[in-house]
Amino acid sequence: MTLAVAEADPTPLEAAREILRRTFGHAEFRGLQGDVIAEVLAGRSAMAVLPTGGGKSLCYQIPSLMRPGLGLVVSPLIALMTDQVAALQQSGVAAARLDSNVDPDAKAATWRRIEAGELELLYLSPEGLMQPWMLERLRRTPLALIAIDEAHCVSQWGHDFRPEYRMLGKLADLFPGVPRLAVTATADARTRDDIRAELRLVDSAEFVASFARPELMLSAERKRGSKEKRVLDLVAARPGRSGVVYSGSRDGTDKLAEALQAAGVPALAYHAGLDRKLREERLEKFLEADAAVMVATIAFGMGVDKPDVRFVIHADPPASIEAYWQEIGRAGRDGDLAEGITLYGAADMAWALRRIGEREVDETVKRVQVGKVRQLYALLDGTGCRAAAVRRYFGEEGVETCGQCDLCLGTVETTDATEAAQKALSAAHRLAGRFGRGRLIDHLLGKTKDVTDHEASLSTWGIGAELTLAQWRELTEQLLFEGLLREDPNDGRPLIGVGDAEAVRAVFRGERRVMIRKATEADLARPARRKRKGETAAALPPHDQPLFEALRAWRGAEAKAQHVPPYVIFHDRTLAEIAAAKPAARAALVRLNGVGESKLARYGEAVLEVVRGFEG
Ligand code: ADP
Ligand code: MG
Ligand code: ZN
Repeated sequence: MTLAVAEADPTPLEAAREILRRTFGHAEFRGLQGDVIAEVLAGRSAMAVLPTGGGKSLCYQIPSLMRPGLGLVVSPLIALMTDQVAALQQSGVAAARLDSNVDPDAKAATWRRIEAGELELLYLSPEGLMQPWMLERLRRTPLALIAIDEAHCVSQWGHDFRPEYRMLGKLADLFPGVPRLAVTATADARTRDDIRAELRLVDSAEFVASFARPELMLSAERKRGSKEKRVLDLVAARPGRSGVVYSGSRDGTDKLAEALQAAGVPALAYHAGLDRKLREERLEKFLEADAAVMVATIAFGMGVDKPDVRFVIHADPPASIEAYWQEIGRAGRDGDLAEGITLYGAADMAWALRRIGEREVDETVKRVQVGKVRQLYALLDGTGCRAAAVRRYFGEEGVETCGQCDLCLGTVETTDATEAAQKALSAAHRLAGRFGRGRLIDHLLGKTKDVTDHEASLSTWGIGAELTLAQWRELTEQLLFEGLLREDPNDGRPLIGVGDAEAVRAVFRGERRVMIRKATEADLARPARRKRKGETAAALPPHDQPLFEALRAWRGAEAKAQHVPPYVIFHDRTLAEIAAAKPAARAALVRLNGVGESKLARYGEAVLEVVRGFEG
């Protein structure tokens, strides 16, 4: 009996594992990958929510290779398609994209390959796919599956809503019998329901992985003093590492990039206001660099899969927890330790809420969006584990604390400031919303310039000498976060007044305590380091470093010659494994993670040559 079993045809999943090994050079499926692949191989549609870097691409790439016909991949961004197609070609997979950047000759060649049944994977934008002539042509083509990447774009409850994605619901009728797979990294329960309804996947299986990203060290701090100076310090403390700095405005992006360049950091600016060609050049530079800092608006990022991004700094806070996880998630995709640092303030929160108020959308949509902003700031300004808060937000249960975010490491200490808060609230009440924050604090300290007799006669004038200017700023910020104070935008010169009357009364009665942070400067001046198991560049013993560097130099030259990012040839991780194992022959090389047959054939000799150069 055992013989019969051993000699039977391999199950589809075993065959898939074989492709994972031979074509992609990975030893085992990661997380839910195998389950998702098995579902699609059985010809059924599905939705998969797997974390960033979780390997969603293979969930549709492997079944495309195994099922007869062409695999279609719908993707929202050209940069993302370019990257994936380049990586697939390196692994010896027949993949192509059809988008507005592809010239007519290349398009014609791609169609010839499709008609000859030679192409395995075709990448398209949603609007590209949904053109009537395109649909007509594809309806005559046997299809292996249709994958919808970044599927959260279909829902207005999530972030990055793309109206074009809404059209994709029609695919169910247009291509009956073709399994459809929707994948995304970030979607809360409501967004997931919406995706399934919009894409007509209501009866399909849903695979939702944990949102944990144990390689990320999270921290956040209130903006204090000069934001630019703070960002400069944070970046300067992380030399020789690649990072992304997100800024809320185009102008801020340019300024920060210039300031970083002036400080000798290889920084690039990126935003939608730049010419397309310039953007593409900078993206390419960033991807190809060993260490570069991209200073960008959120126009940059989706689908940018540079694996060795070591930090993401939000110079201005993200728009929601989904956006936070997506943006921070661009760090550490290679599984090595990476940092996510967020700067935020009560003014950012007020601005975000105001913007929602001005939007022309349904009241229900507004209410949801307001809730999302509040949840984001509760997370940023909260006192419990940040990673756990994110995971609970996405609906995970029984979540443990991460043990490595700033809050787990206990850098935030609070102290009771209820009495001072009462003084600030009385002062704001007396000043009756006529002044800004700075003037309120001057009033409390009794330092108002050119004070009027009236103001100096108020009982709150100068009653706040027990706190310093910095402490009053911190307290004011806290009261704004808690809604006890409120800022009226007043065309960019905000006026401060008392907030929610009921809550303010509770403070005066002493029923509600106000806690502020003790002035502890979180020690972010030093980049995170933590010992981890496994072969990573950082963990490589010193005597293997020269070989590792030589391999990187070889890879850099190879990447330049081919005009591809270095990591599509080999990841740092793989080079570190090679440096540690020092394979003498092809058989030993192909056993290492990230070395598949195609890469062995292409680069095997060259790599063994570099290794041999270090013998003896
Ligand atoms: P995402 O889920 O964010 O789209 P990708 O599909 O881009 O993730 O994969 C992220 C990285 O993980 C890629 O470099 C890929 O080669 C690698 N990867 C995917 N699956 C595996 C696996 N089973 N074992 C090891 N590495 C994997
Ligand atoms: Mg992806
Ligand atoms: Zn934590």
